[in-house]
Amino acid sequence: MEELKLGALRVRGWSRGCELCWRGSKAVVFITGLCNLYSSCFYCTISSWRRGRDVQFVDEIEVKDVSDVIAELRAIDAEGMSVTGGEPALVLDRVLRYIKIVRGELGAKLHIHMYTNGVLMDEEKLSKLADVGLDEIRFHSWDDDVWNLVEAAQDSGLCVGFEMPAIPLSPYIRRLKDLALHLDRGGGRFLNLNELEFSEMNRKELLHMGLKPSPESEVAVSGSRDAAKDVLSFVERNTGIDGYFCPAAQKDYQMWTRWRRRAKRAAESYEDVTEDGTVFRVELSGSKLLLRRITHALHGEDFAVSGEKVMMPLNTFKKLVEEDLVDLNDLECFGVEYAPLPGRRIEVARYPCSFLLRSLKKDFEVKARKQQSS
Ligand code: SF4
Repeated sequence: MEELKLGALRVRGWSRGCELCWRGSKAVVFITGLCNLYSSCFYCTISSWRRGRDVQFVDEIEVKDVSDVIAELRAIDAEGMSVTGGEPALVLDRVLRYIKIVRGELGAKLHIHMYTNGVLMDEEKLSKLADVGLDEIRFHSWDDDVWNLVEAAQDSGLCVGFEMPAIPLSPYIRRLKDLALHLDRGGGRFLNLNELEFSEMNRKELLHMGLKPSPESEVAVSGSRDAAKDVLSFVERNTGIDGYFCPAAQKDYQMWTRWRRRAKRAAESYEDVTEDGTVFRVELSGSKLLLRRITHALHGEDFAVSGEKVMMPLNTFKKLVEEDLVDLNDLECFGVEYAPLPGRRIEVARYPCSFLLRSLKKDFEVKARKQQSS
């Protein structure tokens, strides 16, 4: 069993969908907030404002139609897409239409996988999904009837696996080991175990069952990783399938890597990409005469002019300050950080000039110290 970043665990290998998720090159399509199992999945983490509502999102962006999904796939230069919910089978026509159109627009290389609780699935629906271009299906169920769909899904040409919460209680651990054997016998390819998480919706129930938050994490349930390790050791010893444990922290990691991909593509030459996947630029505004003086002084540098504003990356601003090319007292000056969403920018922070100068001063001091010591 391999130990990976953030506490993830892997036996033999993992599905293409998981590989792309770690790279941040997968867009997540939340196809509906409707689900037929809210009353039985006590651990479900779907937020209250999505639960039971037929809303759609791609990553953090609300979707009106499939064109929004395609825009996001292009914005992050996606190599993969997952369809999740809620229960996608409740809006199967929508799922089929989206996959067909996305496949047509982005071609065969895009990897597409879908999660389902399987209750409404049958051979015909699985074949339809495979026909429109679904690559991989991940069932989530404790129920034998759904487990018995593995072969039908395999026969439709789909890569088949299960994705289950690692509940640190003996009956669930035993059931997960049974599932591993069932997958191995029926031609399933992988068993993914997610670290069990506390959420606003499941907190009361999990605490009632005696589960406790992990001291090392804000959301993970204590013992969930150990339970997954126990099941994955079993997978390693007794089956030939792949096994993987996905830590709760991976969700944030996935989001940051995706944001960074999006920011790199969205950033203009006069902007910087930050560690957090936002874009940053310095914006100066003032009289026309002053702005003309600045653009003249910045000849050959990266900058852009929009109306009565000159925009530039931090390094260009640094040059202006270092070489004393303008009097900042005559200008309005801000460092502005934006979240780059497809086709638009959302301002997330605005830093005053004094803040920028302080950070540059630190930079100059470090440089001066380095020069002195060399
Ligand atoms: S099937 Fe999934 S979305 Fe539906 S209730 Fe269970 S965990 Fe939540």
